[in-house]
Amino acid sequence: MFKKITAMCLAALLTALLASCGTAPNDGNEGKLTVIVSFNAMYEFASAVGQDKVSVSTMVPDGMEAHDFEPKAQDIAALSTAAVFVYSGLGMEPWAEDAISSAANKNLIVVEASEGVEVIAISEEHRDEAESDTETEAHAHGDYDPHTWLSLKAAQIEVENIKNALVKADPEDAAFYEKNAADYIAKLEALYETYAGKMNGLSEKNFVTGHAAFAYLCRDFGLVQTSVADVFAEGEPSARQLGELVEFCKANGIATIFAEALASPEVSKTLADEVGAQVKAIYTMENAEGGLTYLERMESNLKEIYESLAG
Ligand SMILES: [Zn+2]
Repeated sequence: MFKKITAMCLAALLTALLASCGTAPNDGNEGKLTVIVSFNAMYEFASAVGQDKVSVSTMVPDGMEAHDFEPKAQDIAALSTAAVFVYSGLGMEPWAEDAISSAANKNLIVVEASEGVEVIAISEEHRDEAESDTETEAHAHGDYDPHTWLSLKAAQIEVENIKNALVKADPEDAAFYEKNAADYIAKLEALYETYAGKMNGLSEKNFVTGHAAFAYLCRDFGLVQTSVADVFAEGEPSARQLGELVEFCKANGIATIFAEALASPEVSKTLADEVGAQVKAIYTMENAEGGLTYLERMESNLKEIYESLAG
């Protein structure tokens, strides 16, 4: 009896010591699948599918512009012991390949969630502009628009891909992941259906936003985005470009300018003042954005876009 208690005390002491070193095994995550994701939308999808059987951590810290992120040594160290790594792909995480090879984790299951989504190419004009600015950046980003997760249709493919990876990593719980994925996909589809009819009835299709993140959302609903910053949230508009935006807004009767917390909100405000429009929040899901879920933020985006166009 005494021996047993001593052993328990020692174990408790050891746990406390380990905890003080920041490597506590006793953090409530024992037995859970360790999943690392690149940024917030991937966190939302992986958590929806994995729920309490996974421990998901996000590489891009809250408050950091996701397009500017570079992994640090601790991110690589985390990847080296993780079971699953989820990234969206198409140039959203130009660092992903190097990070995976640096982690040298032969058991790591890697999922590029956008795989299978019908891609949207970045326009010639846009690419030329980017290349004349910073050629290497343009090449690192690739030729496609990476913002697939902002489409409720493409998001369903991403969830499916993530589910397949979790099933591969933890086949015993396959039925659990399958059911969660199916439930979540049904919610994504229901939200799509709700807005497909509404958007279809609009005569005005143009909206103006902070950075050009909404091409896939636009494709779903037949809308057109014009933006203050480019696809990779780089560069504020020149005086000439701002002038063109002002003209565009006036010509199209734009009454709302959407702004994101991390992509040139000041420029959006300047533009709005210039044309007498109001500024409304729009979410890109690249960051946690006030602790709202993906579905809450997507519903807010669609409601605000719809209301701004319905006038
Ligand atoms: Zn973006």
